[in-house]
Formats: sequence, C-alpha cells, structure tokens
Amino acid sequence: MLKGVSKLNIVRIGSYITYSSLKQIGAGILESFRGVIDEVELSHHDSPVVESIDALLLTMILDQEYGGHTLGITDADLKTEDDDEFYNSILGGKNPKNDVAVVSTNKLTPLNLNTDTEYELFIDRTLKVSLHEVGHNFGLTDHASYQPAGDGLLCPMSRGEFNKFGYRGYVKVIVDGRGATFCDECIEFLVNIYGHSGSSRQILKDALVG
Ligand SMILES: [Zn+2]
Ligand SMILES: [Zn+2]
Repeated sequence: MLKGVSKLNIVRIGSYITYSSLKQIGAGILESFRGVIDEVELSHHDSPVVESIDALLLTMILDQEYGGHTLGITDADLKTEDDDEFYNSILGGKNPKNDVAVVSTNKLTPLNLNTDTEYELFIDRTLKVSLHEVGHNFGLTDHASYQPAGDGLLCPMSRGEFNKFGYRGYVKVIVDGRGATFCDECIEFLVNIYGHSGSSRQILKDALVG
C-alpha cells in the first residue's frame, strides 16, 4: 500500500500565466492536498507557440521529461482523438498509463480579461480544473452528481453533465461552483491510500529559470 506523501511537478507550457499566479496555483494545490502532496516543484517547459496540442502526446512528453506525478498547464487547446467534435477538445485530462495530468486554460478565460477580478477568476478556474485532474492522478474518480463538500461548495471531483451546458455554461456552473475542499468520500479515499495526516510540512519549490 502506498503510504506517505508525494511530490508533484507543476509545469507551465507557454507563458500565458504569470509566475506569481503559477505559485498561487501551486500553493492552492498544496493546501487542498495537505497530507498527500508535501512538495510542489514549479517548472517551465519551453515549447513553440501552438494553437492546439494532442493531450495524450503532451502527457507522454512531460512524463519523459519530468516523470512522477506531474501537472502540465498550457494555454493551447487540448485535443483528443474523440470523433465527437464537442469532446475532442478538453479542459483537462489524465493519462491512465502514467501519472501525468494536463490542463488547458484556453476555455477558462472570462469573456474579458482586463480587471484584477477577471484575472483572479481565471486563475481560480485554472486551480479548480487542476485540483480535479491532480485528484485523478491520485486515484480519485469523477462524481457524476453535484457532490457537495464540507464548505457547501461542489467537491473538485464533481463532473456534472458536460453537453447539457456547452463549454461556457459548463465552466460557469460546474467549475465556478466547485470549491477547493474535497468531499468526505474523496477525503476518506485519500486517507485510506495515502494516510492523509493534515499536519505535514509542505514545500513549494521553484525550478523556473527566467
Ligand atoms: Zn474527471
Ligand atoms: Zn469528492
């Protein structure tokens, strides 16, 4: 049984998100996964500016380069091989064959991104989608229903119904409706597998250059 805590690499692909925002996301992930993740290392992956990238390919590249539990955050659209056009572009995904998850900020941007409030909303959404994908990385599964957590907001693993809302509606109802606290069911799972202690020392490490 996998006891103890782990390290997570957070890799920024492209520079759309500022370094301080990346730090904020890293700190938010550490907080929500207290007792499970004890170290987050931030890195930057240089890549040509592309409009879209194959999600699976990106997870394989990141796995080769970083290994271990890794979250890639890109502003490019993430494509999958799904025939249905609605599903062939995703907010985030996780490769079941390794421990790499990826998140695209492309569809998380509010209609306007001029004020601090709008930018905060954008970073908050990126954090919530990241929590969901990292949750998959640590073995959590989707809630098809609207699962509330202790804080009254939706558990980050709430998935809801995708095609009922369309992308913008989905982001507003489901992603914005999520909090940063996992529900009892998810916490119980994490405690059983990782011995979620709630008192570990956590480190946010910066491996960014330039
Ligand atoms: Zn999911
Ligand atoms: Zn949950």
